[in-house]
Amino acid sequence: MSLQMHDRLLWPGGRRKAFTLSYDDGVTQDIRFIELLDKYKIKGTFNLNSGLLGQQGMINIGKRPAAHNKVPAEDVKRIYSGHEAASHGLYHSTICNTDSARCLNEVLNCRKELEALMGYPVTGFAYAFGAYDDTVINALKGCGVTYARTIRATHAFNIPEDFLVWDPTCHHDDPMLPELTEKFLNDDSLFPMLKLFYVWGHCYEFDQNDNWDYIESFLKKMSGHESVWYASNGEIESYVSDYRRLVFSVDGRFVYNPACTAVWVGAIGSDSVTEIRPGCVTALPEPAVL
Ligand SMILES: [Zn+2]
Repeated sequence: MSLQMHDRLLWPGGRRKAFTLSYDDGVTQDIRFIELLDKYKIKGTFNLNSGLLGQQGMINIGKRPAAHNKVPAEDVKRIYSGHEAASHGLYHSTICNTDSARCLNEVLNCRKELEALMGYPVTGFAYAFGAYDDTVINALKGCGVTYARTIRATHAFNIPEDFLVWDPTCHHDDPMLPELTEKFLNDDSLFPMLKLFYVWGHCYEFDQNDNWDYIESFLKKMSGHESVWYASNGEIESYVSDYRRLVFSVDGRFVYNPACTAVWVGAIGSDSVTEIRPGCVTALPEPAVL
């Protein structure tokens, strides 16, 4: 027997599934990928190295050589409009096992330069090479970064405890992607209550591996589901943080939302949905003994 409390996080509108994407390095192949995202109404986060914008090169690993040209600074705002720009370090340096001054330089100046280009605060980050240590994490905290993505696949749909160590579900070339996609779309059970499908990669890999068709069929399959919230990484982190700031009464009968956006909650084993409006105290359904 337990008391069923109406305090569990749901996605906006009471949805139980969310889908997000994270793509690194700010390469010109992002343009073609964003056209696909816009076609299928899916949102992505793009992690850029502000100190390398406009640099040209080739990458020679994988099936075939691929251009590794960084988008020029003057086009950044136009290209990433409608999606989220986040930091990937000033020069994509290995900032693990280094001193705090160089970490801070990589993090803060990338953020500052991207903000000047985009015209909004840039608080997201993806670790270059997926590498981090305590000095890097402290630099992120000191620079006001609110989330940072690793490259460690969970093969799960969980929400991170600590957004500064945000492990994605998988890379787009992960052999488990088709199986995870089916599992995510077809599992409508009420438990676990919430799912987050998080896929990452680099858009030059679609040239390297000649698999633009594969990624398009994946996006098409993921698109247009009423039950899924399509959000950038930053929107997800911000929403979960608002939920974590809710102030519940001890008996779980009402809750105060100090944030400026609504948050939705539900109860384990129930399809009830309650909208907690911003700046208000909201009464919750009576806790039931189950
Ligand atoms: Zn990278």
